Amino acid sequence: MNPVPLYSEFPVFLKRYFTDKVQKISLNAGFTCPNRDGSKGNGGCTYCNNQTFNPDYCKTDKSITMQLEEGKRFFSYKYPEMKYLAYFQAYTNTYSELAGLKRKYEEALGVEGVVGLIIGTRPDCMPDELLRYLENLNRRHFLLVEYGIESTNDETLKRINRGHTFAETIDAVERTAACGILTGGHVILGLPGETSENIVDQAAAISRLPLDTLKMHQLQLVRGTRMAYEHVKHPEDFHLFEVDEYIDLVIDYIQHLRSDIVLERFISQSPKELLIAPDWGLKNYEFTARLQKRMREKGAYQGKLYAG
Ligand code: SF4
Repeated sequence: MNPVPLYSEFPVFLKRYFTDKVQKISLNAGFTCPNRDGSKGNGGCTYCNNQTFNPDYCKTDKSITMQLEEGKRFFSYKYPEMKYLAYFQAYTNTYSELAGLKRKYEEALGVEGVVGLIIGTRPDCMPDELLRYLENLNRRHFLLVEYGIESTNDETLKRINRGHTFAETIDAVERTAACGILTGGHVILGLPGETSENIVDQAAAISRLPLDTLKMHQLQLVRGTRMAYEHVKHPEDFHLFEVDEYIDLVIDYIQHLRSDIVLERFISQSPKELLIAPDWGLKNYEFTARLQKRMREKGAYQGKLYAG
């Protein structure tokens, strides 16, 4: 008998769809964000400095094709047979008129070796007209729409100036999943005002959403953000996790999570020159190895404490 897996892993999930190795290439498609341009809010989310999103190979003055070709050159060096997912990551990648969005998505799909799209966006930026188009696209290509959820707590969402509520997240995730589109979420663990207990409690609300994938990461204080300024003024409002403490929080969280939600990542690493704290100096794979070791020691696995 196979042992219970520690958690649902993203590479295993991708193998359901692709026989070749698949790599995401992050894009900056030149979108903006309604929480920055005044249509939803001004100033953006308090933790956001969009410079942290993009590797060097994707600058806005480069076309989508150029960014993808550069990304491909970078990755195909090791695996020439690699296939690619165009990851529309920076800002809000559904925030434009439909014709322009179609042009950008279809440009990416026209690049050789690109086998699908991942589109990152906000829950308040998925009009039905766009969803109908994506539903159709999804019949022909791999597609995953990824929503920034961040917290299930409306007080927290207000405090970090997200400009949307958790009810809007429920609506967007449900509408997207109902179209048969793979639907992902992103949460930040450790937002100001949330205790470890509050955070773990949120796993139940996340589990009720028809999500296929979930990314989580620790709260990071990033230079040039409103949150960095708030931290200077009121450090008592923040708890910046030590790595082992965060590992225990993640374990607790995922034990309360539905077991079939695929967990794509657990940490994020802002560029060193922008990161104020916490600076754990750990690569993604190093963190994952420590997390898995600790899970085995504790006999923990995803969904173990999920109430259903
Ligand atoms: S985190 Fe996303 S939604 Fe928030 S301000 Fe930055 S780009 Fe906009």
